[in-house]
Amino acid sequence: MQFLDTPIEYLKGVGPMRAELLKKELQIFTFSDLLHYFPFRYTDRSIIHEITDLNADMPYIQLKGKIIRFEEKGHKKAKRLIAHFQDDTGVTELIWFKGIRWIKKAIKVNTEYLVFGKPSAYLNKINIIHPEVDVLEKEIAFSPLQAVYHSTEKISTRGLNSKGICKLVKALLPQIKNKIEETLSEDLLSRLKLPTREEALLNIHAPTDIKKMERAQKRLKFEELFFLQFHLLKMKLTRQKKYKGFIFEKVDNHFDNYFKNHLQFELTNAQKKVLKEIRVDVKIGAQMNRLLQGDVGSGKTLVALLSMLMAVDNNFQACMMAPTEILARQHFQNISKELKELNLKIAILTGSSKTKERKQLHEELENGEIDILIGTHALLEDKVVFKNLGFVVIDEQHRFGVAQRAKLWKKNTTPPHILVMTATPIPRTLSMTLYGDLDVSIIDELPPGRKEIKTLWRSDSSRLRVNQFMGEQIALGRQIYIVYPLIQESEKLDYKDLMDGYKAISAEFPMPEYQVSVVHGQMKAEDKAYEMKRFVDGTTNIMVATTVIEVGVDVPNATVMLIESAERFGLSQLHQLRGRVGRGAEQSYCILLSGHKISKEGRLRLETLASTNDGFKIAEVDLKLRGPGDMMGTKQSGVLNFKIADIIKDGKILEFARKEAIVLLKDDENLEKAENINIVRAYCPYAKERIGWSRIS
Ligand code: ADP
Ligand code: MG
Repeated sequence: MQFLDTPIEYLKGVGPMRAELLKKELQIFTFSDLLHYFPFRYTDRSIIHEITDLNADMPYIQLKGKIIRFEEKGHKKAKRLIAHFQDDTGVTELIWFKGIRWIKKAIKVNTEYLVFGKPSAYLNKINIIHPEVDVLEKEIAFSPLQAVYHSTEKISTRGLNSKGICKLVKALLPQIKNKIEETLSEDLLSRLKLPTREEALLNIHAPTDIKKMERAQKRLKFEELFFLQFHLLKMKLTRQKKYKGFIFEKVDNHFDNYFKNHLQFELTNAQKKVLKEIRVDVKIGAQMNRLLQGDVGSGKTLVALLSMLMAVDNNFQACMMAPTEILARQHFQNISKELKELNLKIAILTGSSKTKERKQLHEELENGEIDILIGTHALLEDKVVFKNLGFVVIDEQHRFGVAQRAKLWKKNTTPPHILVMTATPIPRTLSMTLYGDLDVSIIDELPPGRKEIKTLWRSDSSRLRVNQFMGEQIALGRQIYIVYPLIQESEKLDYKDLMDGYKAISAEFPMPEYQVSVVHGQMKAEDKAYEMKRFVDGTTNIMVATTVIEVGVDVPNATVMLIESAERFGLSQLHQLRGRVGRGAEQSYCILLSGHKISKEGRLRLETLASTNDGFKIAEVDLKLRGPGDMMGTKQSGVLNFKIADIIKDGKILEFARKEAIVLLKDDENLEKAENINIVRAYCPYAKERIGWSRIS
């Protein structure tokens, strides 16, 4: 057994009970796990503030002084302990609401302490709530940077708070000398001026100065990102070699016909560029796996349509999968309309397709009568068998899980080409990580003639004026969306809000002069479809809905998107909703209605939305606000679980790591060269752990 694989209970200071806790709470099983449990920040214990300088805007700070007296205030449940803490410049209050008895026992009056905490203000007085209080130790003078580790409440009470973990790490560090295997090559270390792995591990936990700590961080972040990028790129390369792809030689029939005779407008340059990329992909004999990113309304569907025609021209079938029934129906209608002169058989399959229809559809799919199949995840079912599926489009991909998507691969003996389209742009760092093994195309241009959507943020009190405005728009012949939030936890309440809103709007815009539709998740699919159709046809003036209309729906005559309780929506979701208007030639508006009481984040979301229409910018802010896992709905997937790297902050290191990974892959794809021995030793177990991670994302 390697030293680092030693079970954690063998470390000095860890008994069986603590070992249990470390395993359960922090997933620390071995010495190695502890060594790779990195601090999330450091406190600089060399800087000591003076009490007279304190203000509530300061971050965590450190004071040195003595407690001159304790004082208890309040009654039983609302009791608090106040310590009057003094240095040479003044007195401040340290306050505890919990653990009072213990504090009073552990901390002495008139003894020199270091106090660490965040100043806050209460009734014009500065205090520090629940500070850390430390005795002055010699060790501090030696290592002023103290590592701070995440802990959990449960283990904190058993002595394994940040400081407890720190102690364990310090017991381990002296033993690791010469036991840490280097994972990077000499060449990388010297060229990038990175410290060795051993040095980095020592300095990440117990740095003697900031420089060393930063170098250690850089090295470990680089390493983490480098191996991931190498892995993703290697998978891509392997896939390209392993999976032969269908070759679409000809585009001389339906593609040409549609392009020359039926396409209603000139493609944008961005659309042309992407089509060319796809055209190249489907001719080289390797399976295509391409991610198409483009802002709402940038015309991704048309690119998908033309790509599917490439397949059809070569006697293959194509399919397109959308995340909702409404969206699938709409794609079906649009595509059927676009291709009506082409003599192709286009079909739709969703959860609500009737058994009888299904049976016929299955037959027609299998005997090749159907050229293009559009649907929801019903397409994934094993019963759905194609004669010769050659091209798959997945719309609004982040709603589908990896496993679901992988199913589409198996619908033919050779996997079909895959085009994945995103609903919202993804920040580059994120797409490099999540989709690092895909080719990426970007549509960075909207079709011409679009007017910029005007976004207004109003409070509930402007409702009258807003109603009046909607009336004016309807008088001009336009249509309106009104969207209500629908979040799982309060589904009932949301439903009531929606129906109340619907009633109020119906009263404001009464029949027969006006027609108001309502669509929500609890309706039957056919009722939804009926209401949607009435809106698409222009029969209804106003569509009151939940976010079911969020993705994809396309009604060019709709010019107003009114979003109720806008502060409750996520940023990307708001941007998606806004993208439902501004699709025709008329000036469009997005009105964000919110209450007065909004969180800081909610405010930032609405401000961001009101200030820009650029989906990529919005995605960046969203990423910062929510973090990558939440933003992509991939929290569990493991892909984004970094030990130390942070794709929001470490974009530069990431770019760098990817570049180096590409260099290495070109130079020594199978890691056979002697100089890459360290890398291959580290990479093999790394890759093994990630088998089956992601075949198409
Ligand atoms: P998204 O990228 O959000 O899926 P769509 O594909 O729904 O966008 O396209 C939005 C609208 O733009 C559609 O009405 C489509 O017909 C139209 N459109 C697409 N490409 C062009 C173009 N090159 N010129 C003009 N209109 C276009
Ligand atoms: Mg779309």
